[in-house]
Amino acid sequence: MYVVTVDLEKCDGCEECVNICPVEVFKIVDGKSDPYQASECSYCLSCVEVCPNKAITVTEM
Ligand code: SF4
Ligand code: SF4
Repeated sequence: MYVVTVDLEKCDGCEECVNICPVEVFKIVDGKSDPYQASECSYCLSCVEVCPNKAITVTEM
């Protein structure tokens, strides 16, 4: 199980994470990314790499 967090101060809602995540962890809510399905995360780290603002952290529980 993994914990996916988005730093809302850094996120600008660009949707790059929404588009790249293979298991649809993210959706945009009020202009920010919400990792609402973090339980689906497969720890590929694509979202961490793609985020231009380094807003995403994924850690193992
Ligand atoms: S890629 Fe980063 S800045 Fe863009 S929506 Fe996702 S968390 Fe926010
Ligand atoms: S690490 Fe991969 S599977 Fe997990 S939220 Fe990021 S893009 Fe999705």
